[in-house]
Order: sequence, then C-alpha cells, then structure tokens
Amino acid sequence: MTVRKATRPPGLSKSRVLAARQCPRRPWLQTHRPELADGSDAQRMRIEGGTQFGELARDLLGDGTLIEHVDDLETALAATRSLVDGAKTGTRLFEAAFSHDGVLVRVDALERVRRGWALTEIKSSTEVKDHHAEDVAVQAWVLGEAGIDIRESRVGVVDKRFVYRKPGRYDGLLRTEPVDDLIEPLLPEVGAWVARARDTLAGEMPTVATGPHCSTPFDCPFQSYCRSLEPPGPTYPVSSLYRGGKLAAELIAEGITDLRKVPIDRVRNEIQRRMVESIKKRRAIIEPALPGLLAGLRYPRYYLDFETILFVVPRWLGTRPYQQIPFQFSCHIERRTGRVDHREFLDISGNSPIDGFARALLAACGNSGPIVVYNKAFETGVIKTVAEQVPELMPALLALIDRFVDLLPLVRNHYYHPDLGGSFSIKAVLPTVVPELRYDLLDGVQHGGDAQMAYLEAIDPATTPARRAEIERQLQRYCQLDTEAMLRLVQALSAGPASAHA
Ligand code: SF4
Repeated sequence: MTVRKATRPPGLSKSRVLAARQCPRRPWLQTHRPELADGSDAQRMRIEGGTQFGELARDLLGDGTLIEHVDDLETALAATRSLVDGAKTGTRLFEAAFSHDGVLVRVDALERVRRGWALTEIKSSTEVKDHHAEDVAVQAWVLGEAGIDIRESRVGVVDKRFVYRKPGRYDGLLRTEPVDDLIEPLLPEVGAWVARARDTLAGEMPTVATGPHCSTPFDCPFQSYCRSLEPPGPTYPVSSLYRGGKLAAELIAEGITDLRKVPIDRVRNEIQRRMVESIKKRRAIIEPALPGLLAGLRYPRYYLDFETILFVVPRWLGTRPYQQIPFQFSCHIERRTGRVDHREFLDISGNSPIDGFARALLAACGNSGPIVVYNKAFETGVIKTVAEQVPELMPALLALIDRFVDLLPLVRNHYYHPDLGGSFSIKAVLPTVVPELRYDLLDGVQHGGDAQMAYLEAIDPATTPARRAEIERQLQRYCQLDTEAMLRLVQALSAGPASAHA
C-alpha cells in the first residue's frame, strides 16, 4: 500500500530534532526557508528506493494494521491509541503515531510483545549506523513518555547477501538488528536535544560555518545557500589538495589557506607537488613519461564506458540489492590507420539488460587490443557481476578485464592543470585538454545521475513513445561523449606538453 508523506505537524517532528543534531541551521532552514533546498538526483533516487523498501518491509515483517491518516494527525493519534489499548501479544501496527512535548513520531513497525512493545525502524541502508540509533532513541523517548513500555528496539536494514530468485519472493531481503544497547545511553539526552531544537526554531537563523558536518551523516540540501552567505575563499584553497586532509588542516591552522602560498617542501607526495607547482606556475604540467606511455598503447584501441542502474529492491531475477546493473555501453575503436568506429548498446525495454549487454560487449571488444577505461575498479566490478549472471560467457567476459588500461591513474600520476581543483574526474580533466568537447552542451543528460534518472523514466510504462525515443537519443549521445572524451584525451596527451590548455 502506498503511503504519502505526512504533512508537517505543529510543533517538532522527529526529522527536525535529528536534523538539529547534524547542524542547528538545517532544521531552521527546513522550517522557515524550505524553498532554498537543492534536491539532487541521487537524493531523489535514495528517497524513492527507501520508500519502496519501506513498503515491502511491512509485508516482510508480517500481518499488521497500517495507520493511515497521513494528513490528519489528530485522527492518526486517536486511531493509534485505540489500537494500542487492549492490544494482544502479536498485534503489529505500522505507522503508529505518538506525540510528547510537541514532538510527533510515526513508528515504522510496533509490535506487542510479552510485557511491552517492540519498535522497529526501517532503513534502506545495508548496515546499522550511529545516526539510526539516534533516530530510534527519539522514537523510544516519545513512546516512553507517552506511556508505551518499549522492551525491544530494532533497526531493519537491507541484507546485501540477498539474491532475488523467485518472482515476487523477497523473504531474506530484510534483516533486523537489535539496537537496545546503542540507544540506552542516548535516551537520557533526548529531552535536551528536543529543547535545543525547539529553541533554535523559535530564534533567528543560527550562525554556522559550512564544513564537514554539511555532508555527514547526510548531504545537507542547503549547501549552495550556506556557501553563498560566506565570503569567497581563495581560488586555489588548500582544502582541494589531493588526499591532503591532514596537511590542509595543518596549513589552515598556520594561516595558509591558498595553495599558491604553500612551500613546496611541505607537500607529501608527487601528485601534491605537481599540483602546487602547476598552480604557482599557472600552467599545465605533463610529466615527460606520459606521452610515451600513451603512444605505446597497441592498436586497435578500445575506449569503453558503462552506464548502470541500481535498485534497493531487486527488479530482475538473479540480481542483488544495490547491484550495479549495466544498461548501456559506448565503445570507440581506434585503428592504426586513424579510422575510428563506434559500437554501442542501450536497453530501455524495462527487461533485464544483463544478457544483452554481455553479448553486445563481447562482440564490440573483439579478442585483442587494450581496452581503455577511466577508473577500472568500476568497470571491473560490473563485469564480474555480469559474468556471474551469464556463466556461459564468464571466461570471455573476465578476459576483457585483463585488457583494461586505466586512464585515471595515468592522468593522476602524470598531469595537472590549475583548473582541475584537485579533481581528476574525466569531466574535470577534459576541458583542460580538449576544451571543444563539452558535456554542458549536451541536451538533457549531462552526468551519471542524469543518466540513471533518464533510464528510470524510459522504462516507466507511463512514458510516451516519443519521450522514450528522446531519452534514448540523449543517453546515446552522453555515453558516446564519455568514450570520445577518453579517445581525444589519449590522442592529445600523447602529443605532449603543447596539448594542454593552460
Ligand atoms: S549546509 Fe552546512 S551549515 Fe548550512 S544548514 Fe546545512 S549543515 Fe548547516
């Protein structure tokens, strides 16, 4: 059954109390200036996946009564109270509503056990985390104060070992863990959390500088807004130093915030040295070894990139939760003569793309020649899981991995340009080497998150054929640009120092 989001009740919701644990400004903005929030594709996908898992988890936990009234909290509270009073052992309630001291909670699952109640919070992650315990502690505090004797507290998470074997059968996807020991020390603190959150919401917007707390434990949706309030930092902040967290903290403590001011003897590795030198000299640095390494790649050269989708609740038989499932690849093939061919695969039928992907990939990649990828850990992991599911093709698929040439470490260990900002992603590197190839000119799909959202829209039966055709074209162009980018990077960097645009 579909459950809509509850409207915010007067007073405090559990989520506001928990948001204040991350940063006092966050619940203030959520309450008073919600229009300033950014919503990323990744966040939207996480929410959708979490909702689907939450609904399925109710079936997996067993029979129970769903308390709806999502827009009428008074009725939900009254309905909960009438079901709780006189409940027999084994009674299970979903979305039971309770409030205390103006804090409202909806409990994912509440089950009558001997001498009390067991509370279960459902999370779509694969392990119990510290902030889950805080979430449960707020609920247990409200329920305890409302006269509900909580004897057991659990968190239900996704069991990543689960494999979807029979249509409609998800037994084993949900794994519950007791968290009583984790919440016990937190319970005495909850009253103070609530008081602080309430004071915060009643006052002016709190003054808080951005920092690591903006992405831990959650990506805060107000980061653009909060950064816009802060004075602009240096163009080359020491915080962008590659793997330089500890060194950057030391430098900032010494008052050095700009990479141009960092003494070269302070850097701790070659990548940092190249980065600081490049920024100080205001030009790209290409180490002399790189052109030779790239020019030495044999022909034919294959440039390969995948697009993948993952589901919390597996959609196709044989797949696991959170498995990266490839639905598309692009492959440029460069011959010694200079001729370049292009092969591609894209399945937006809504059926499992795995088998078709595997066969098309083998046909595209031939039997020999380097396969250039950017960050081979990703492509390697995808091929291994595909090989498990198409066992008759496993040897041929695994043989592709042996041919991989990873362009990412080659670039990272031999190249820097002042515009990289500490990133070696292909989207950062490409404009510094081949500025005429641009992702921002693509129509619709411009990054991996867009590609995943576009794929989900394309396989939705409600999508019109015309829109599906438009998405297909956008996905093809996007993935094709990824492999064209690698081809052009290799060609340009093989030519040496003159190739980078400083
Ligand atoms: S972006 Fe950072 S400082 Fe701003 S509200 Fe979010 S967590 Fe707080």
